[in-house]
Amino acid sequence: MNLGLRGKVALVAAASRGLGRAIAEELAAEGAHLVICARGAGELERVGGAIAASSGVEVVAEPADVSDPRDVARVVERGTTRFGRIDILVTNAGGPPAGTFETLTSEMWDAAVRLLLGSAVGLARAVLPGMKARRWGRIVNVTSIAVKQPVDSLMLSNSVRAAVTGFARTLAAEVAPFGITVNNALPGYTRTDRVEELARASEARGGPTAEVVRRGWESQIPAGRLGEPAEFAALVAFLASERASYITGTSVPVDGGWIRSLL
Ligand code: NAD
Repeated sequence: MNLGLRGKVALVAAASRGLGRAIAEELAAEGAHLVICARGAGELERVGGAIAASSGVEVVAEPADVSDPRDVARVVERGTTRFGRIDILVTNAGGPPAGTFETLTSEMWDAAVRLLLGSAVGLARAVLPGMKARRWGRIVNVTSIAVKQPVDSLMLSNSVRAAVTGFARTLAAEVAPFGITVNNALPGYTRTDRVEELARASEARGGPTAEVVRRGWESQIPAGRLGEPAEFAALVAFLASERASYITGTSVPVDGGWIRSLL
């Protein structure tokens, strides 16, 4: 299937590692030029250089903290200055800390809202005028299986990603007349540093060891294993493609069957 991504410009947030990096690699393999960001300049530069070398696309790598609106504006500005437009936006950020209600302070709640909801809203606000003017755009938000089935001890993720989903569903209807789609891609347990950190956090809290935690997750997944970042990135590339032009307002899991609901 030709995804029609050759020559498009994609901004992928939080792309120096994990799911963001895999999405950037997948879009580049399809011929899209990239604007990528993450907080640390060194790792981001290395990743950008590696993707450009392996795929032949142009990559702009701009260090940024997506929870800071000034950084978000600068990333979009750099991409627009270099390429003249952003066609595809993939919002993504590091995961908020695990924790139950008792352990979370109001500062942690505020930070999670800035990180997950603020970044998605700010990035969309910055790219939408151009997409509307060109009457073509794709927005894909990386959220989580937690929006369909909350995950124990991930109070912040469970709560704030629901807000992102409400935002995206509402925005989808507002921008559909302009040829712009807005969808959410929901990773299940996928083999990245973030997941390793969650496993180790359990051990550090005096709970089960990381290995026991990993086996526990696998036992809940009908596919019997964690997902690979490239398996998730394939869905994002499709939702970002020309071929997905009539799919909008959806939340699609990539979870090996973990979510047990019918819809
Ligand atoms: P990861 O920790 O492996 O990578 C996160 C990336 O985000 C890195 O490139 C990091 O530098 C960047 N980043 C972190 N905070 C940032 C910030 N404030 N500004 C800019 N960049 C920032 O994580 P991942 O597994 O790739 O997860 C990506 C997102 O998907 C997270 O929000 C995570 O909670 C969510 N998620 C992941 C899984 C999973 O199994 N991997 C499951 C459900 C949801």
